[in-house]
Amino acid sequence: MSKIVILTGAGISAESGIETFRAEDGLWAQHRVEDVATSEGFARDPAMVVNFYNARRKQAANATPNAAHKALAKLQQLYAGQVVIITQNVDDLHERGGSRDVLHMHGALNSALCVACEHRWPAAMTMAPGDACPKCSAPAARPDIVWFGEMPYDIDAIFDHLAQASIFAAIGTSGNVYPAAGFVAEAHRTGAHTVELNLERSAVGGQFAEHRTGPATRVVSEWVEELLAKPVQPRDSFK
Ligand code: NAD
Repeated sequence: MSKIVILTGAGISAESGIETFRAEDGLWAQHRVEDVATSEGFARDPAMVVNFYNARRKQAANATPNAAHKALAKLQQLYAGQVVIITQNVDDLHERGGSRDVLHMHGALNSALCVACEHRWPAAMTMAPGDACPKCSAPAARPDIVWFGEMPYDIDAIFDHLAQASIFAAIGTSGNVYPAAGFVAEAHRTGAHTVELNLERSAVGGQFAEHRTGPATRVVSEWVEELLAKPVQPRDSFK
């Protein structure tokens, strides 16, 4: 069966009003990554970190899926093969746009994690430092976000998907955060056609066979319509 594996990053949610990591204003610009996206930063100042993710959770809840999220959901529904969506994003705009089985490799704003027993539960809109775990009662809740230095989720399943991909696409990701930035090399090595959809070439842009340059709402929608209009390509036809 033909399999399309899609990696998305902050750029796909930019036109929904959620600023990217490297945008010049907004939440990220007001904080150092070491302070808000590492376990050391959380240990130093849990209240500041929890409040940072509270603000991001609220922002994501007020945002709506855009045409790019919806186009990928349409592809999942109508493509004759399998479409796997892997996202580095912690918002839930893919799901609210209609996609299913999205692999959130960097965690999710709408999930809370117990540091003591690793139980997960739906996060309150406003978390507080030291919130109790509903399972073990330890005052050890944290946002269920994969911070720098931590192991991304679902990595074995992701590499299995990459090994089987006919097409690998990266949408709105800068190619600076590993292991996600290494997926294009892996997909290429195992025989997939690779395509980058972005406003500009990413840090790993030279490794893609094809580029579609422009805002995600336009280029993703066009790409999806093209894929749905042509017969499904057997995996080997791209080699
Ligand atoms: P990034 O901020 O490093 O890069 C964003 C990329 O998107 C850039 O390459 C930029 O050219 C592109 N882009 C911006 N606007 C676009 C548009 N309208 N259409 C198409 N492309 C556009 O983001 P990243 O590569 O995802 O890595 C940053 C890390 O920050 C990730 O680990 C992610 O978890 C986190 N993050 C997540 C969100 C979110 O959940 N929405 C937002 C910011 C950061």
